[in-house]
Amino acid sequence: MKNKFIAGNWKMNKTVAETRQFIRELIPLVAGVKNRVALCVPYTDLAAAVEETKGTNIAVGAQNVHWAESGAFTGEISVAMLKEIGVEYVVIGHSERRQYFGETDETVLKRTLAALGGGLKPIVCVGETLAERESGKTRDVLARQISEGLKDVSAADIGNVVIAYEPVWAIGTGKTATNDEANEAIGFIRSLLAEKYGKDAADGVYIQYGGSMNEKNAEALLSMSEIDGGLIGGASLVPQKFEAIIKAK
Ligand code: PEP
Repeated sequence: MKNKFIAGNWKMNKTVAETRQFIRELIPLVAGVKNRVALCVPYTDLAAAVEETKGTNIAVGAQNVHWAESGAFTGEISVAMLKEIGVEYVVIGHSERRQYFGETDETVLKRTLAALGGGLKPIVCVGETLAERESGKTRDVLARQISEGLKDVSAADIGNVVIAYEPVWAIGTGKTATNDEANEAIGFIRSLLAEKYGKDAADGVYIQYGGSMNEKNAEALLSMSEIDGGLIGGASLVPQKFEAIIKAK
């Protein structure tokens, strides 16, 4: 059994001062826990988050990264920029970025390859919309997102990829996938990885569930056989709620 990996996705929340205060509160609450912990914070908070978490068991992640090394890409941030300040993880292909910022499986792949090439660990988000689930297309969508979004990821690199299964209809809605729905989808994603990389490699990949996971439902979700952790939005903004999820299993 792997330890769990619990990552917070703060989205566009918290200033630098709020980030420092949150982390100072969280550190003693989660000191010594066996599970892996990360906070994926806005770009402006990254340096402060890295500084505040130095020497603790909390890693820091960004919420996006561009694939180019440098150049005329106004508003974008490169892998080297994130690495230099000590960022370890990066969320890629979150459904909000797919929905509002034109992210596609093709750009997910480019960002993922750039992150891996520069030593950042990508947390690649996949998941179906409500319409896709209701029309029985969940597996087709997941198969496409995994095969296209991770197309050129090598066997040597797949162990550094984290996947977050986030059904779009469960994100920020208070509507969680049932334990069985989440477990089934993640098991399916793992079977896709096994076909391409072999069973041992697939078993080694961390696949999180995300979508309204909170301090009340975390234990049941994290007890499911396929679920290796959680990507937490709203409930990661409050230290005590995030602590409860980190300690749930
Ligand atoms: C997310 O943003 O990845 C997420 C799962 O959000 P929430 O927990 O708020 O549904």
